Parts: sequence; structure tokens; C-alpha cells
Amino acid sequence: MAGEVIYYSKALIPTLRETPAEAELISHKLMLRAGMIRKLAAGIYNYLPLGYRVLNKLCRIIREEMNRAGAQELLLAALNPAELWRESGRWELYGPELMRLEDRHNRQLCLGPTHEEVITDLVRREVRSYRQLPLNLYQIQTKFRDEIRPRFGLIRGREFLMKDGYSFDRDDASVEETYKLMYQAYRRIFERCGLRFSVVEADTGAIGGSFSHEFMVLANSGEEQIVSCPSCGYAANLERTESLSPDSISYQQVEEGVSDNLLNLEKVSTPNVKTVEEVCGFMDSQPQELVKTLIIMADGEPVLALLRGDHEINLNKLQKLLGAKDLELASPETIERVTQAPVGFAGPVSVTGYRLIADLVTKGMRNFIAGANENDAHYRGVNWGRDAEPEQFADLRLSKTGDLCCRCRSALTFSRGIEVGHIFKLGTKYSEALGATYLDDQSKKRALVMGCYGIGVSRTMAAAIEQSYDRYGIIWPVALAPFQVIVLMVDPLDEQVRDIAVHMANSLKAAGLEALLDDRDERPGIKFKDSDLIGVPLRVTVGVRDLKSGVVEIKARKTGQSCKVSPEHALEKVLELLKGLQAE
Ligand code: ATP
Ligand code: MG
Repeated sequence: MAGEVIYYSKALIPTLRETPAEAELISHKLMLRAGMIRKLAAGIYNYLPLGYRVLNKLCRIIREEMNRAGAQELLLAALNPAELWRESGRWELYGPELMRLEDRHNRQLCLGPTHEEVITDLVRREVRSYRQLPLNLYQIQTKFRDEIRPRFGLIRGREFLMKDGYSFDRDDASVEETYKLMYQAYRRIFERCGLRFSVVEADTGAIGGSFSHEFMVLANSGEEQIVSCPSCGYAANLERTESLSPDSISYQQVEEGVSDNLLNLEKVSTPNVKTVEEVCGFMDSQPQELVKTLIIMADGEPVLALLRGDHEINLNKLQKLLGAKDLELASPETIERVTQAPVGFAGPVSVTGYRLIADLVTKGMRNFIAGANENDAHYRGVNWGRDAEPEQFADLRLSKTGDLCCRCRSALTFSRGIEVGHIFKLGTKYSEALGATYLDDQSKKRALVMGCYGIGVSRTMAAAIEQSYDRYGIIWPVALAPFQVIVLMVDPLDEQVRDIAVHMANSLKAAGLEALLDDRDERPGIKFKDSDLIGVPLRVTVGVRDLKSGVVEIKARKTGQSCKVSPEHALEKVLELLKGLQAE
């Protein structure tokens, strides 16, 4: 890498003492304070030189690894004609997140939020034969999404930088090879960035496809919940996790032994007592003794889902089970129509005409509490078979702490992460919609089999900070740091200090490193604070007092450890310390 020296006195690095009030997340606060970004409008940011340096570091790593894996970089148009999006059906489907506009001829356009349509259009025009396959193309480009809630700074913007890649293969076997290459490239990218991350089997959601992984940077502030098994390596998004409740195991044993001791069904007046918590308080019982009833609209039809009081529903599981396209919680009006009671009193007893699906864990429950489908009333002593009969017991619950791994029965770990990358096999969804075909070796026309691979570049920059900071500021991993070294002049007006510091910075440059030379005529305290805030991995401090003893100080941002060496040995020491930091 070409070395560089930037003089702080000439640079635009407007650091702030105060934390801007609008920022909630630490990465957002620190990027504003470190003078890396500035907000232009909600979810829209300018990158200042320091922020842009980090972004470029990331892009460089991404490019190197994508190219190494055989992908080719191109740049697609950000402004897309509506017709193309109509062909895939997404002009309607994408909804208000799509930034739409009209040109002077009243033709509709959108600003690309992702580029399946554009790339498929390009490839359908240029690729004819199996001999041109596989083809793997990517770009790094600004994307536009009118997010319903842009927030957390760069984590969820309305304009953001994305690396998006698309592969074209002849068949499933071949796309799976490409997918594996991308999987490995992604691992290398995030490893090289120096990030702690987890790769999870992702829910494919609306996009479709059967192979799908998300790359999550581990951070407590993450929006995503990740469940992983430390024993066998299983990892998945919370919504996709299959796990065993320790109770469901013990309940099966209960079920075999207990068939008697059934209490009578008893209606209890519970005026204004609605939530699980309220019912338990009122009846002096535990959530585990209660079965709650959720009314879910599955493709417009109400379905009753029954779960133990302390469990939450996993709508993905119900959706899969029902084979439904669209699932949502019923409105209060629907709930009243179905249960003939206000919200809060639904139950499984005497329900007719609707599908009842109960979670597996409830199967072993006896004499439980449930709503009575009547205003201000619940039942006590409800029992399956006698009082209510679901059409099916199935796994509906969201995994929770204490659950066991389905594969190996070890205790699962729950953590949080920020989704920075997503790879999935698209199959022929877009190639069929847009007629992107090739001729195989028998001259037979076939649909191209696609994969698609995204990285949120600007989000990754924020995620790196979420994972690594302290109360003084950012702590960059060496690979992403805007500079590897800051050379700080304590007394910039002293000639010897200046000479040695400039010489130091230049020798770092000659060694291929990027150095920020803090030559500002500021109080040392301010300079030390700024240096910690912007998080450069190593600091070389040159001051009159140390020079009297013939030394400069070298300090590592991460550990706070420092040492003093003679100016002649400083370069060698810096190189050695950086090597150590990179190897971590
Ligand atoms: P999310 O669930 O967070 O909305 P997504 O599923 O919409 O993400 P993709 O369409 O797969 O995201 O986009 C690829 C990558 O782009 C994501 O993995 C994420 O890192 C990044 N990304 C998506 N939306 C945003 C956004 N609004 N701001 C910044 N980065 C984003
Ligand atoms: Mg999204």
C-alpha cells in the first residue's frame, strides 16, 4: 500500500466535544464526534475525509476478495426505468421503500434499492451460451431505500453504500459451487476487517431461494437475535431457530403418567383482566399454567394459535406450517368477530369454524387457564380432549434462553448481531421473469440460475465501531483504521519536536503506512483526546520533555500500553506493534 502523511492542521476533521443529541447508538455518536460523517437529512449522510478513508479501506478489502474469488467488478445505473421493475413484478411489490420519481416526460423511474432487475436485463442481452458461464458480477454503489424508520446513523440509512453481486450459472450444482466460493470470500472479508462475526442460516423471507446465510457482526446493540450452539456449531436467526424446550421433554413424561386428576372446567369472572400478567396476578398462578390464544390472519383467514403463557409465537414457523403467503396479527375488530369478546379473553374452548393450532409444549399441559371467549371471563381447569381439541400440535414457539440445540441437545447461546452481509441462491426467479436464458451444450434454451450477494459497506463501518470502542472513543481494527499511526507533536512550535515528528511521519510513509501528523497549535490535552476519539491504533508522541531524555512515546490505543524508545528505533517498534495488532 502506498504510504501517506496528512497534516492535521490542514485536514477537515471537525471533532466535537459534546455528544450530538440526535444520536442514539454509540457508532452514530462517535462517528459524528470524530468528524467522520455529518447528517444531511434523515437517514442521509455526508462522509467527511476521515469517514471516507475508512469506507475506502473496506471497499478495498471487498474488491480484493471478490476479485480473488473470480467475480468481476462493474457499475450499474442507479437510476432505473419503471418498466424493468414492472417486468419482475417488483414495481408494485416493493412498496413505499422504493424511491420513485418522474422525469420531464412523465416517465416513471426509481433509484435502485438493489439491482437484480438491472443485472438480469444486462445479462439477458449479452449472454447466449453455456460457454460464457459461470459469470459472477459485482459492484459497489450507493443504494436508495425509503426505510420506514431510518435510524442508528449508518446502520439503517435511506442512502447507503452497498456491495451487491450477482452470479449466473447453468444449473443448481454449478450455482452451489459459486455460492460456496462467495461464502468463503465473505468469511475472508470480515476476517480481514478484524471483526468478530457469526454466520447464520437466514430466513429467506420474501426474496426466495433455498440457500441463504447472513453474516452478523456480534454486538450488543444489534437488531438481530442470533442463536448458536457452542457444541456443534449450529447458528441461526432467532426466527429460524429450531430448538427444544427443556419443558417439552419433561412434559412428554408427564403425559404418559398422568391422565386422571382432571379438574372440572370452571368459568371465573375476570373483570378487565386481559394480559397474561394480569390473569396470573388475578388468579394467583404462573404463566406456565396458562394457555394463551393468538388470532392470526393467514392469507385473510383467522387461525387460532395456542401457546403457553410464557412463550412467544414464531410467525415464521406458523407460516411454514400453514403454507401461507401472508401472515399478520388480527385486528381488534377481527378478534371480536372470531371470539365474540373484546381483546384479552380469547381461548380454545367451544370454538367452531376456525383452525386451532397448538404449540407442542402445551400438549402435556393439564388443568390450564385460558380465555372464555366472553367479556371479563376466563376458564380454569381446561384440558385437551375434553374441553378443546386443536387440529394439530406443532412447534410454534420462538426459542428462548434455556432451550436446547435440536441437533445435539446442548444449551444454546443467545446473542445479538448486526447484519452486514447476506448471500442467497436466487434460483431462476428473476431469469424466468425477465427471460434471461442461455443455450446449453445441446442447444437447448434454459433459464440462468442466479445467486445474489450483498454487503452493507457503510453499515459495516458502523458495526465495526459498535464492536470496538471505549469511553474515550473509537478503537479501529488496524485493517479499517483511517490511519495506522498518529504522530502527535506535544510542542509544535519547538523546532526539534517538529523535525523529529515530520521525519517520523515521513519514514512511516516510506514504509507504506498512513500517518496523521498532529501539528496543530492546540493544547496537548485536546490533541490526546482527539487522538483517542478517532481511534487510530498507534500513537507516537513527540514532546520536548521526552526528547530531553532522548525518547518518544508509542502508545497502543486498544490496550493503553505505552513504551518509550529513541526516535531512531521508533519506526521499527511501530512496525512490530502493528504486526502484533494485525495478528490478533
Ligand atoms: P435489513 O433486514 O437490515 O433491512 P435487508 O434484508 O433489507 O436488511 P439486503 O436487501 O439483503 O438487506 O441488503 C444487503 C445488505 O445491505 C444488508 O445485509 C445490510 O448489510 C445492508 N443494508 C440493507 N439495508 C440497509 C440500510 N437501510 N442502510 C444501510 N445498510 C443496509
Ligand atoms: Mg430491509
